[in-house]
Amino acid sequence: ESWPHYDFVIVGGGTSGLVLANRLSEKKGVTVAVIEAGDSVFNNHNVTNVAGYGRAFGSHIDWAYQTEEQQYAGGSKQIMRAGKAIGGTSTINGMTYTRAQSIQIDAWEMFGNKGWNWESLLPYYKKSEGFQVPTRNQISRGADYYISYHGEEGLLKVGWPNAMTNSSLLPTLDETFNQLGVPYNRDVNGGNMVGLTSHPNTVDQKANVREDAARAYYWPYQKRSNLKIITNTFANRILWANDSHHEAVAIGVEVTSPHGVETIYASKEVILSAGSLKSPVLLELSGIGNPDILHKYNIPIKVNISSVGENLQDQTNNGLSYEGTEFWLGSPTFSVLPSANQIYGTKVTEIASAVNASLADYAKAVSNSSNGAVQEANVLAAFKLQYGLIFESQVPFAEIVLLPIADSFSSEYWPLLPFSRGSIHIQSAKASYPAAINPNYFMFPEDINANVDVARFIRKAFGITPLSDLVGDEFAPGLDNLPNDASDSEWQDWVKSTYRSNFHPVGTASMLPRNKGGVVSSDLKVYGTKNVRVVDASILPFQLCGHLTSTLYAVAEKASDIIKKQYRF
Ligand code: FAD
Repeated sequence: ESWPHYDFVIVGGGTSGLVLANRLSEKKGVTVAVIEAGDSVFNNHNVTNVAGYGRAFGSHIDWAYQTEEQQYAGGSKQIMRAGKAIGGTSTINGMTYTRAQSIQIDAWEMFGNKGWNWESLLPYYKKSEGFQVPTRNQISRGADYYISYHGEEGLLKVGWPNAMTNSSLLPTLDETFNQLGVPYNRDVNGGNMVGLTSHPNTVDQKANVREDAARAYYWPYQKRSNLKIITNTFANRILWANDSHHEAVAIGVEVTSPHGVETIYASKEVILSAGSLKSPVLLELSGIGNPDILHKYNIPIKVNISSVGENLQDQTNNGLSYEGTEFWLGSPTFSVLPSANQIYGTKVTEIASAVNASLADYAKAVSNSSNGAVQEANVLAAFKLQYGLIFESQVPFAEIVLLPIADSFSSEYWPLLPFSRGSIHIQSAKASYPAAINPNYFMFPEDINANVDVARFIRKAFGITPLSDLVGDEFAPGLDNLPNDASDSEWQDWVKSTYRSNFHPVGTASMLPRNKGGVVSSDLKVYGTKNVRVVDASILPFQLCGHLTSTLYAVAEKASDIIKKQYRF
């Protein structure tokens, strides 16, 4: 089979890629191809089932990337899940729809990305969103909102599952968390996330199926003659024009399809939307990255950007679980997002000053561990920002998801803004060879301490009435294993032996000024190239307090407008 030329070739038909594919192909005559390694999961029950979270894990639609041994976290490797399907990771994720604390998006502009702030992104959050107003029954179970925060005309259906947790749990949770200083937050999607909330999901309420990127942005538009999705096809590298001396000019993408190795040509642009754990790898395989790394594998250097694949930020997830005193039906939607003040109480000043005093050392350690690929001063600036967000702005410190299911009542939690920074790099010039992924979990004492402190906070909450009436014995970690007077180091050992990735990797092709460690500019173009962009979770320069998809849909909507503006269509 030989492929025609397309105007735009998008690598990755996932969460971000399908937004671009849809918006760019709105214009008749503009041709768009999407290269996707996976296939349709439209009828895959592990995907569509609203209560089926986790069922797709380990199946053929899960990339299940493996990390390097985690030297600060007990040594074991971790699995980082990501979707391999039309719809990408939105087909296997937890469906939570929460955005960010407004100041976190403002920080993008403060760090040099002109035009990127909460106020300018909010219209795109709304543009992407098709908010479904909850029914009276759902409201009685805790669903609530301010309509002014939401978009009702967008393609992505957002709302609450048909079958929400039975009983009115909200008053019990509210009374309990109030005693810990955590207020009720009616709607976390307006830029203020702290509090107890019933968060919406990416779900099609009427059809009662998962709303993934494909159901929202692709399937209803698949008949457009100028939009072509090329499935079961793996992108190997970007191909360049021979005469691109000053700026690198992409002419297409080399792929391995079921027919063999082929080229798919792009006359305007190549856009990488392969995810945080693939887009930086494709850049390196195409000659854009750290010369020290590219030399090792004899890859000719197109553009020297040493920060490609650096700045990897992920969170760590863990949980406490209890025997339930009731039987719970339905899908739980309650989260608690406490601030540092709420977690630490009067101890916060002491903790804050200890963290503050460590920032310079942390920044130096990150730069050293990258062999100087990232500059200490840039990391320190990011760490000062992060410190300010946590201890001055009091953004949420952790997310605690409450999971009353059947005869148990468990929780999952993750500190939202760890300081650990890692990397992802190629280990071969062969595209099919796995990359070295190293998130450096628990690289710094603050990160492991945060996990312990949040776990203790959760145990405290489950011990307070009226929440305590809903639980019996603690199954995990269990009082036999970790009694109430367990030491910090005993808690730390438990964290290291039970944590997993929170599957929120960002930052590996950060949108930042080039001298600040950026890989893409504020129009998402890769520095030194004429026509290559990255649009996916890799470009988020800093971790967010929200789950990622809502922000990625908004970023991809904005990116589409930036591209349309450049080509005037
Ligand atoms: P993806 O959606 O992963 O898209 C990348 C696409 O590129 C994929 O389709 C992939 O197959 C394709 N691809 C990759 N390499 C190649 C190649 N070489 N050639 C061709 N195609 C390629 N976020 C939330 O908002 N709420 C949640 O509840 C939530 N829970 C999560 C639970 C899990 C288990 C996971 C893994 C993630 C979760 N997230 C959640 C995070 C969120 O889903 C992801 O951050 C987001 O979907 C990533 O979007 P993306 O566009 O960056 O990449």
